[in-house]
Amino acid sequence: ARRNAASAPITPGALADGTAIPLLANLGKPGGAAEAVELGAEGVGLFRTEFLFLSASQAPTVDEQTKAYTELLQTFPGKKVVVRALDAGADKPLAFLNDAHEENPALGLRGLRALRASEDILREQLTALANADKATDADLWVMAPMVSTVEETEYFVTLARDYGIKTAGVMVEVPSSAIMADKVLAIADFASIGTNDLTQYTLAADRLLGSVASFQDPWHPAVLSLVKATADGGAANGKPVGICGEAAADPLLAVVLVGLGAATLSMAPTALADVRASLLQYTRDDAERIAAAALAASDAASARTAAQAAAETPA
Ligand code: PEP
Ligand code: MG
Repeated sequence: ARRNAASAPITPGALADGTAIPLLANLGKPGGAAEAVELGAEGVGLFRTEFLFLSASQAPTVDEQTKAYTELLQTFPGKKVVVRALDAGADKPLAFLNDAHEENPALGLRGLRALRASEDILREQLTALANADKATDADLWVMAPMVSTVEETEYFVTLARDYGIKTAGVMVEVPSSAIMADKVLAIADFASIGTNDLTQYTLAADRLLGSVASFQDPWHPAVLSLVKATADGGAANGKPVGICGEAAADPLLAVVLVGLGAATLSMAPTALADVRASLLQYTRDDAERIAAAALAASDAASARTAAQAAAETPA
């Protein structure tokens, strides 16, 4: 629902006991930033840079990218803005970067793997991001997509720091990274869980394939368990873990994710109002209890039902 201009200001994301849960926007096209601010986004949790590349037959120049990132950061003065390095391959193929002949592109040279194979593109992107950071006063965080090993984490964080990026992290979208989260987050400054891919890879179900769509359900306790493992890895290292997959836009699942340890939630801006209202109904204790009920279920449908029942039952 769109806020009408005369209504009260939108409050920041919080639980019923006052625990702050910053609600951030997923952005993936030009011009979405102003609307996100209007809908109460407290920053950006996922800026998908692919749109700068998708229509092009070659990578945009450093100047073109600097301009785009500067415009983004200028819209969020003093606020956190998480930009994702180019995530090309699989569901986001790029002719000049990806090999179209892979038989299983979701398991192929995508995300950070593809950037590493074309490192100039990554270096140019980091240069442009550092330029934009210097020219603005948003709090820029940069993360790599589809990171599957501790070594890749080290590679990306080291390279990003070389370019002057102060806060460098990884997306946790592959089960191996969730399982290794204590070591991943000893290196990365933060992690953001991409539940779309994490669900795809956990259930081995292509996110684009309708015939296996029933497997692509982030309520599955196996997915929730990996979210918890990641949050625990963050807590062990004093590093924040957020969620930026579509799961964060489900008002009850958002409560579960917070109960599992997510510190921030990022979603399509149109989902912010419903998630904000949902979080305000539960304390942290409630969220942990609801999450435990979902985690103890044996499949996605019963996790949802168990969470609903726990949400309706006062402690
Ligand atoms: C995800 O995988 O959950 C995610 C946020 O990234 P994308 O949907 O862009 O792959
Ligand atoms: Mg993803």
